[in-house]
Amino acid sequence: MFRVNEDYLKLPGSYLFSTIAKKVSAFSAENPDKKIIRLGIGDVTQPLCSAVIKALHSAVDEMADAATFRGYSPDLGYDFLRETIAKNDYKDRGCDIAADEIFVSDGAKSDSGNIQEIFSKDTRVAVCDPVYPVYVDTNVMAGRTGTYDSTTGLWSNVIYMPCTAENDFSPELPKEVPDLIYLCYPNNPTGASITKDALQKWVDYANKNGSVIVYDAAYEAYISEPDVPHSIYECEGARTCAVEIRSFSKNAGFTGTRLGFTVVPKDIKTEDGTTLHQLWARRHGTKFNGAPYIVQRAGEAVYSAEGKAETKQQIAYYMNNAKYIFEGLKSAGYSVYGGVNAPYIWLKTPDNMTSWDFFDFLLEKANVVGTPGSGFGPSGEGYFRLTAFGSYENTVEAIDRIKKL
Ligand SMILES: *Cc1c(COP(=O)(O)O)cnc(C)c1O
Repeated sequence: MFRVNEDYLKLPGSYLFSTIAKKVSAFSAENPDKKIIRLGIGDVTQPLCSAVIKALHSAVDEMADAATFRGYSPDLGYDFLRETIAKNDYKDRGCDIAADEIFVSDGAKSDSGNIQEIFSKDTRVAVCDPVYPVYVDTNVMAGRTGTYDSTTGLWSNVIYMPCTAENDFSPELPKEVPDLIYLCYPNNPTGASITKDALQKWVDYANKNGSVIVYDAAYEAYISEPDVPHSIYECEGARTCAVEIRSFSKNAGFTGTRLGFTVVPKDIKTEDGTTLHQLWARRHGTKFNGAPYIVQRAGEAVYSAEGKAETKQQIAYYMNNAKYIFEGLKSAGYSVYGGVNAPYIWLKTPDNMTSWDFFDFLLEKANVVGTPGSGFGPSGEGYFRLTAFGSYENTVEAIDRIKKL
C-alpha cells in the first residue's frame, strides 16, 4: 500500500502516442497483409552521420584505456561541448551567450519538463493550443494547473493561446499576464514559424510584465527562411527573460543517442537578485549526473565541418519529404500548413471530420498513420499532423495513397 502524489492522478487518460500505438496494433492484427506507413510520431529514421559515428568510436576507445578513461561527467556538461555550442549556435549568430550559461543534458524533453520545478507553485503558465504535451502535463504533476474540464479539455489555471488557421497559427499576446510562457518555434505540431519582429514583441512583453519565456527551439535546424530567428537571443532584451531549450535529436538524429541543452542567461533574476541560472545549476547538481562523455563527443562532432555538411543533408532529405507531403495534399484539395521551416505538415481534416475520425479513416482506407490534432489540445480539433521523418519511398507511397482516396 502506498499513497500517491494526488497531482499525478489528475492527468487525463493515457499519453497520446500510447493510444495511437494501441489502435495501430489492433488494426494490424486484423489486417496482417496490409503495409502500414507511419507518419505519426516525430522520430527520425536516417542513421547517424559518419562524423558522429567516428567521434563515438574514438570516444569509446578512450574509455577502454586507463589513461583516457572518464568517470562521471561534469554535471553541467564538458567545457569542450559548452564552448563549441556557445561559439557555433550563439556567438556566430551575434548572440551574447557564454559557455557557462549552457547546461548540457540528455535531451529537450526532460529539460522542458523539469524547468517548471524552479518556479513557485502558484505560477501561472501560458501555452499555445495545440501544444507539445510535455509543457502542460509536467505542470499538472506539479499541481499548478487547477481543475480539468473533460468537456472542453482545458485546465482552469492555465492560460491558453489558441493557434488556428484564423490567426495563421500565431498566438496573440495574452491579456491576462502569465508568469511563465512556453513558446516553441518552429512549432511542433503546427509546423508554424515566427519572424524576428514577432518574437521581439514576446520578449518586450515578457520584460515589461516580468514573465519568463521558455523557448523550445528543438527544430531550429529546419529553418529555411531568412527572417525566421534561430535563437530567441537574436532578439534584444532576451537575456533578462528567456530560457532556450535545444536538442540534438531532430537536428542530428540523436533521438536514441540522447543529448540536448538549455541556455539560462545569468540576467534572469528574482526581485532580491537570486538568479534562475544559480537555481538551475543547483537543480542539475542534485538530480542529474551529466550526459555521457561519448555522447558529448558525438555532439561536438555535429559542429565539425563534416558534421555540419552531413546533418544539413539529413535535414534536406526530411524537408524534401515535407515538400512532397505539402504539395501532394494541396493538389488533392486539402488545406495544408507548415512544412517550410519545420518537418511537420498540419492539415485541416476534410468534410469537418473530427481529428480522430480522420485518423481512423486514414488508417483503414490508406493504411497511413498520422497524429490527430486534438491530441495536442482543443484548438487542434479538426486538424491532423503528418511528419516528414519517414523514408522518401514511404512518404511518396503514403501521399499517393491519400491522393487516391
Ligand atoms: C522532439 C521534441 C523534443 C524532445 O527532444 P529530445 O531532446 O529528444 O528529448 C522537445 N521539444 C519538442 C517540441 C519536440 O518536438
